[in-house]
Amino acid sequence: MSKEALHRDVVILGSGPAGLTAAIYTARANLKPLLIDAPADAEKQTAPGGQLMITTDVENYPGFSDGIQGPDLMIEFRRQAERFGTDFLETWISGVDLSNRPFTLHTSDHLISAETLIIATGAAAKWLGIPGEAKVPFGFGGHGVSACATCDGPLPAFRNQELVVIGGGDTAMEEATFLTRYAARVFVAHRREKLRASKIMQQKAFNNPKIEFLWNTAVDEILGSKEHGVTGVSLRNVKSNDQRVFPCSGVFVAIGHKPNTDLFKGQLEMDEIGYLRTSGHSTATNVPGVFACGDVQDSVYRQAVTAAGTGCMAAIDAERFLDHLPVAMPSGEEVTDAGEHITSDHRAIIEPDGSMIPNNPEQLVGSED
Ligand code: NDP
Repeated sequence: MSKEALHRDVVILGSGPAGLTAAIYTARANLKPLLIDAPADAEKQTAPGGQLMITTDVENYPGFSDGIQGPDLMIEFRRQAERFGTDFLETWISGVDLSNRPFTLHTSDHLISAETLIIATGAAAKWLGIPGEAKVPFGFGGHGVSACATCDGPLPAFRNQELVVIGGGDTAMEEATFLTRYAARVFVAHRREKLRASKIMQQKAFNNPKIEFLWNTAVDEILGSKEHGVTGVSLRNVKSNDQRVFPCSGVFVAIGHKPNTDLFKGQLEMDEIGYLRTSGHSTATNVPGVFACGDVQDSVYRQAVTAAGTGCMAAIDAERFLDHLPVAMPSGEEVTDAGEHITSDHRAIIEPDGSMIPNNPEQLVGSED
């Protein structure tokens, strides 16, 4: 059976705050974006709408003074993108070819070509896979178990309570330190007796009187009830194998994140963890015409509002590129869709045939002034 061919100026991958914001902007700019989102799959941690679909109260998204439920917020994002004419396609992408423009994307039923591609495939928090960790009703996820202290730490359920943070890296130290603003005490359960976190983050945590470390400790199960949510954890000393029940009211799993970038390996520049590298001055990746926004390129802020902000940036970058305007690249150069390169000092333009002309006609290339 032959595949259906689709061609678009803008194809967006991902339907979290970044992807949907890029859709709202590019749709309003009349670029008729096609947004592709992955089907819901509990094992792969995918859900149309992204990580907010597994969040309950969102209190820090501007514009909602009484807070909003994560899934409700994403329904609003989606409606807004639909209103301006975004097309949606829910499917798995089996392969991409970014070596030539238009870029090619393969699904089981479609062959999609894209003049520009906005990657907003997000990142997934790593989970331990222990009993009690899954989302309600299978566990206590969203009811005392979280992977984001900034999102959930200030919620009433965690205030003045004893909380457990799992992990020994920078994320765990940051989450534990943040949680001490609200919690009575924070216990960091780490599987070794040495932290992986940077010295400065370790020191901050060691100096915080509200933080206590549980060394050589594995969390085997999160305990609780339907009525009360999390009531404790089952801990195991990995050296002695001794087990005990440790009472607490919340568990923050902070063992790292995995950006969803496997599809782009070997084609786009990534850091050692797999986050896409973008320009810094724009959302451009190393391939002209491919932009990245949201958590897939952000290991630091990871907030819905910053994802939405970079989604807007990616949309404007794609619009500029399609209008033949230069877009800043990670190298500091700017490129146009015609293949012109403006040098990082802005003094010269390298034409597609390799010839160099001054960017400012009054200033000769190589002149000293
Ligand atoms: P890391 O991979 O650095 O640390 C993960 C931690 O979780 C490790 O201590 C690891 O234990 C533990 N862990 C992993 N898997 C398991 C498991 N199955 N069971 C129990 N424990 C487990 O991830 P981070 O998210 O902490 O950091 C990622 C990157 O982001 C780093 O480069 C970090 O520097 C950066 N970052 C920077 C921040 C900042 O500067 N403000 C804030 C947050 C992150 P073990 O040590 O035994 O392997």
